[in-house]
Amino acid sequence: MDIPEFRSADRPVAGVDLGIKCMAQVSDGVYFENPRALKSALTKLKRLQRVVSRRQKGSANRKKAVRQLARAHFRVANIRKDALHQATTLLTRTKSVIVLENLNVSGMLKNHHLAQAIADVGMYEFRRQLVYKSAWYGCEVLLADRFYPSNKRCSQCGQVKPVMNLGEREYQCEHCGFVIDRDLNAAINLEQLFYRS
Ligand SMILES: [Zn+2]
Repeated sequence: MDIPEFRSADRPVAGVDLGIKCMAQVSDGVYFENPRALKSALTKLKRLQRVVSRRQKGSANRKKAVRQLARAHFRVANIRKDALHQATTLLTRTKSVIVLENLNVSGMLKNHHLAQAIADVGMYEFRRQLVYKSAWYGCEVLLADRFYPSNKRCSQCGQVKPVMNLGEREYQCEHCGFVIDRDLNAAINLEQLFYRS
């Protein structure tokens, strides 16, 4: 990892875990939830997709349904974009360094349900916004090595578990007994990576 030569000393370093449960978990305990409006907008979108597929091709009813579907797509995209912008602006303005997991997204996309979740969170977009806003606000984005075990490592004692299943919402360390929210543990591990490098 390349450590920046200069960083604003008055702002903290943060690890940020981009997740499924919440949009982003920050190592200081702050988290950004996916907006509620996104979930209902997605439900509506799925319903409209079914409506379109049931309508006869070329019919006026189908054209109407297609228009409604396009509007629903637009709404989902806007809700997502607004939420991402709020989070990435706040982070880049208040942190000096943001450490992110270097996600192997193509590997994760093989899991169908997860792929949906990843798409919803817009991880790519999140990272993209962080990078360009960092240049505006004097922040630095660092990516952890792809093999850094941010999910499997205990942020308290450093012990690494052989396996951490996706369904496990809590990290429980068998070595030191530490129990912590899974995403928060990952975010703290990412923050610690900055100081350990
Ligand atoms: Zn431990």
